[in-house]
Amino acid sequence: MKDSAHKFCSPKMVDSALELLKRSSFRSKFKLNDRDRQYIQDKSIETIKDHAVDFINLRIASKFPKNDGKQTPMKGHPVFVFIAQHATATCCRGCLQKWHRIQKGRALSDNKVGFIVRLIMKWIEKQMDGRRDDFIEQK
Ligand SMILES: [Zn+2]
Repeated sequence: MKDSAHKFCSPKMVDSALELLKRSSFRSKFKLNDRDRQYIQDKSIETIKDHAVDFINLRIASKFPKNDGKQTPMKGHPVFVFIAQHATATCCRGCLQKWHRIQKGRALSDNKVGFIVRLIMKWIEKQMDGRRDDFIEQK
């Protein structure tokens, strides 16, 4: 128990998960657009983090989330949290199990919710400052 707590607390876990996700063409096609960036800037990153915590607790954290696999829309409001969830494979318990080895059929510990939220936030932060890099990388 101590071990897994440590594992999910480590910032390295978040970084290596993001590295892995980059190799998936499906996951890496999700990006924030200008409107999302503007919204995040207006609302502040702290507010966005609160949204992310709410979404994960509400839709993902329970033992058997409602409509699992379909609970994270690709569009809607505020879409960027959903986009970030798809980009980081934290959209449903199936993706969490496949990508992050977080077992299905069990409620998520606070520790795991914390990991997921950090992963989402790190992805959003990278999207916020990685903008110029993205353009260069794209061609
Ligand atoms: Zn999923």
